[in-house]
Order: sequence, then structure tokens, then C-alpha cells
Amino acid sequence: MNLQIDQQRLQNEIDKLASFSSEPAPVVTRVVFSPADQEARGYVNKLFENAGIEVRSDAIGNTFARWIGSNSELAAVGTGSHIDAIPNAGRYDGVVGVLGALEAVRALQRSGFQPKRSIEILLFTAEEPTRFGIGCLGSRMLSGTLTPAAAGKLRDADERSLDELRTEAGFSGPLEEVGLPRGYYAHFVELHIEQGPLLEREGLAIGIVQSIAAPAALNISIEGEGGHAGTVLMPDRRDAFTAAAELALAIESLTCKTGGINTVATIGKCDLFPGAVNSIPSRVKLTLDLRDTDGPRRDAVLQSVLQACSEIAARRGVKIETEQVNADAPAHCSPKIVETVSEICQARGIPHRTMVSRAYHDSLFLSRIAPAAMIFIPCRNGYSHRPDEYSSPEQIATGALVLAETLARLANDGAVA
Ligand SMILES: [Zn+2]
Repeated sequence: MNLQIDQQRLQNEIDKLASFSSEPAPVVTRVVFSPADQEARGYVNKLFENAGIEVRSDAIGNTFARWIGSNSELAAVGTGSHIDAIPNAGRYDGVVGVLGALEAVRALQRSGFQPKRSIEILLFTAEEPTRFGIGCLGSRMLSGTLTPAAAGKLRDADERSLDELRTEAGFSGPLEEVGLPRGYYAHFVELHIEQGPLLEREGLAIGIVQSIAAPAALNISIEGEGGHAGTVLMPDRRDAFTAAAELALAIESLTCKTGGINTVATIGKCDLFPGAVNSIPSRVKLTLDLRDTDGPRRDAVLQSVLQACSEIAARRGVKIETEQVNADAPAHCSPKIVETVSEICQARGIPHRTMVSRAYHDSLFLSRIAPAAMIFIPCRNGYSHRPDEYSSPEQIATGALVLAETLARLANDGAVA
């Protein structure tokens, strides 16, 4: 099979897609269902149609572009990623996995390859949690991890509901129809930038993901008592912020104590009320992001964090409430896909390694309904979620080439001629 990736065309398309942003270049900000997101979706749909691929969307805007195989009754091979971008982001996160998949399919078409299983490119709605506070909205619903009832309650910061926003964006129909059955995809493989520094540091072109770390998120609110910064004496205080500070250090210590390098915790938001220089904070809201490749170990840390909350609350006379946003299981990738990608790299002399994904991706949820794996390419300095995120056209083309051959092999796997 003579596979040629059109590196220039792919780069041009990535650059064009970056122009659909609600902030000026080099920043890419594309929040789900915003005008920028809608324009970007329109552009990508046109590219799918130009490649002669059938496009459909579901009730929340997951988009499926299917290249029909000769044995189309067999379960399809899925690939794809997302095109939404957090505020002040770059142009490659997610996008490489959508446009790279399209170029992979076009390269297969040009080579004269005819897949037996259909190959379906997915564009997942709202991989980023920016709008609704929960990541991987589209793939969670596809995999049945988020119920239609729970999704129906989602609101953005302006109190606009998912139902209202999806309808306005042109996606209607019952949320009950979004879920896909196990077996709908025979395999799923996602191409993505690494978002970490390892591949670049080791001079490797391809990372093959063997497992995806399990994310958990907690909202924590602490209620103490406010007062005048001068007149309330220290023994009389019930300062919500000092309780938060103690909790933050306890979380750090509990996380480091697991002895696993893959256990990580981050308090990324801390809002103080009333937020005045001379006023004791009476309320604090924190977010905790806790992840591990080992699910039970992550859950044990989560339990100790909850214990620390009660202990600190009792000792300091404050009230601490927690709300679990999510606690997802880790994904173990399909050994068959990992082996297939590894064989392809070996045969082509492409330097590669297996690795863990510490960031979560739509593949985490697709792995609940199909054997799934991911192909990583390097990105400069490991930078991601920032405007200077960068992978070179050559690095992206290598990723698309490996993806193309992987799709070809998986599309003919277990199919009779
Ligand atoms: Zn991503």
C-alpha cells in the first residue's frame, strides 16, 4: 500500500481551522456551541463532504463521518477527537485527531485501498469542560457514562441549559438516542498531541498509549465566619481561608504519600468571599482535580481527603461540604491496537515507545464500549492549552501516516473478503 500524507494540505487545514476563534490569533478560543465553534464545525463538515464521506450528527452535536466499507454490516472502526478549545488555547489539541484522521482517510482513498469495515471519523462535542463544567460531554454520553437525565440538568455559567444551547446550535432530538451500544465500533483509535514533554525529550516520533489516567473532581465549599480584620482576635476566628489552606496542604501530603508517581492532585480554583483586604473570609470555594492511573489508589486518596475535610472542619469550627463532580475509572488500552501500531512503527523505522496518558481524552470513555487506544505525537516543550502549543507539519504527518495504516489494518481485521 502506497500511503502518502499531503502534509501541506493538512497543515493548511489546521491553520484555517485555527482562524475560527473568538479571540485573535495566535490565541484559539472555541467554546462549544459558540459562534466560533459553529463556524469551525461548518468548515470541518465541508471537508468531510469534499472527501465524499457521509456526515451525520447526534442530538448533542457529536458528528460522525463514515467512509463506508465493503462489508458495511460489520462493526466500524472509529477514530477522531475534538475541535473545541479552552480559552487562550492553541491550534493542535484535538484538531490533529480530527483533521489528521480525515487526511489519513484521504491518503487511504488515494492509495486505492478499500476498507472492509467502515471507517468512521468522530468529532466529539465538548471534550473541554469550559462550558458545562464536565469534560468529555460527548463521549461520556456516547458511552452511557453520563445519563440523559444528568445531562439534561447541565447549565453553563449564564444558567443556559444544555437543551437550550444544543437546540440553538441546530442539534435536536432526544438525548436518549445519543448512547451507542457496545460493539458499535470494533476498534477505536485517537490521534492526539502528547501534551507532555517525553516524546520530544527522547527524540521519538510516536507514543502508543497503554493506559489513560482516571480523573476525579470535587467541588469543596468551606463556610466559616466573617468579620473585621482588626477587631476579631485570633482565638475567636473561624477563618474559611486558613481552613482551605490547611486542607490544600493536607491534600498535597496525602497525594505524595501514595508512593505512586502517577498520583497527582491540583487545586486550580479558590474563590474567597467577600474578597476584601480588611475582611476575614467567611466562605471559600475550591476545586480539586485528582488523578491516577490506578483507580483504587485514586479512590483511597479521595477517601482520605474527605476524612481530612471532616477533621479540619471539626477542629476549626467551620463547615466543609464536598460535591463529587466525577470519579471515572482509568482506561486500559486495547493490547491488539497497541501491538498493531507498534508493528507499523517498527516496519517503517519510526522511533516510538509505549506510554501512559496523564491527561484524559474522549478515548477514556470510548474504551467503555470498544477496544480503544491512542497514538501520540510530540509537541514542543510539552506545551498545551496555551497559544504557543506546537507540533511541526512533519510530526503531524507522521502521526497521520501511522494512523492511516492502523485504520487500514483494523478495517480488514476479522473481515472476510
Ligand atoms: Zn484534547
